[in-house]
Amino acid sequence: MLANGAYHNPVIPRTAERLPSGILQLHSSNYRNPQSLPEGPVLVVGSGQSGCQIAEDLYLAGREVHLCVGRAPRAPRVYRGREVTDWLTESGYYDIPYENHPQKATVREKTNHYLTGRDGGREIDLRQRALEGMRLYGSFKGIEDSKLLFAPDLSTNLDEADRSYNGIRQLVDQYIARSGIETPQEPPYVAPWKPQSDPRELDYAAAGIVCIVWAIGFAADYSWVDLPIFNGRGHAVHRRGVSPVAGAYFLGLPWQNTWGSGRFADVGKDAEYLLGHIRQALTTGTPPVAHTLNDNATALSAGAPAAATRR
Ligand SMILES: Cc1cc2nc3c(=O)[nH]c(=O)nc-3n(C[C@H](O)[C@H](O)[C@H](O)COP(=O)(O)OP(=O)(O)OC[C@H]3O[C@@H](n4cnc5c(N)ncnc54)[C@H](O)[C@@H]3O)c2cc1C
Repeated sequence: MLANGAYHNPVIPRTAERLPSGILQLHSSNYRNPQSLPEGPVLVVGSGQSGCQIAEDLYLAGREVHLCVGRAPRAPRVYRGREVTDWLTESGYYDIPYENHPQKATVREKTNHYLTGRDGGREIDLRQRALEGMRLYGSFKGIEDSKLLFAPDLSTNLDEADRSYNGIRQLVDQYIARSGIETPQEPPYVAPWKPQSDPRELDYAAAGIVCIVWAIGFAADYSWVDLPIFNGRGHAVHRRGVSPVAGAYFLGLPWQNTWGSGRFADVGKDAEYLLGHIRQALTTGTPPVAHTLNDNATALSAGAPAAATRR
């Protein structure tokens, strides 16, 4: 049973080696609080949950914050009087298995929606933060001399994040309407800020950047597993945790079966499912294997590159 988690090696791009030693660099997993960083402007790279929450933490502490916005979606936290996760749980949305999910082709690769538990739990609107002074850029592309380079995708990434935000609200609206629940409507979201153009670069020396927080996720590392149960990108090949090799299972992977699989919510259900397989194997003496895998065509023998980012 491979239950070794999904977040193994913190990702920091090799281009970071070109930055001068005077700039402190750290991965989001090592961030603790604003006081632990040197005084001065900070660049946060990545707008998943960690990146957005760290950027807010620094911004609210009075720091000048620059944020590279990637393709992470965002979610409302409370909508129409309740936590959105409560609505979605009650509606059965979180029970949709990966195999039937409308976004099956991409859902396992997606970054989590950003929101925060701060102030008792609320949404994060990066447009609002930009209006107040946070500097936003598109995806980080590289470094040239003293310039940090960005893709021209800030507008698109903000629009896409809003699209997912509005889509979640719509799912809740539909559930409420379907169930005949009486609860007040909320006004539609209106973007408070839009970038005039997509910024392409930032001179870190001129901006006085003293610290960069890399919040671009973790890479999986299964290099120690000598079994042909990974695809060409080093990702686990499985169906509901059952690998193509008899007797080898995964547990705790994001979207192993449902939204809650890589979270505390459903890992227990996944464990029970696998227990059923193991019991059957012990009873019949024929360990079942996953016969129809969506990506088994790319399964490679052990020794395939094992480290691949989930983002
Ligand atoms: C930043 C962040 C925030 C999160 N927030 C939430 C949240 O709010 N709610 C939620 O439900 N989930 C959250 N999660 C996900 C949650 O942490 C995981 O779903 C949960 O930890 C999975 O438990 P696990 O036992 O499968 O893996 P882990 O908790 O990762 O445990 C795996 C263990 O295996 C060990 N291990 C790894 N390789 C080997 C090896 N070769 N030999 C021996 N041991 C090994 C590791 O050291 C580790 O102790 C978050 C994850 C991250 C990264």
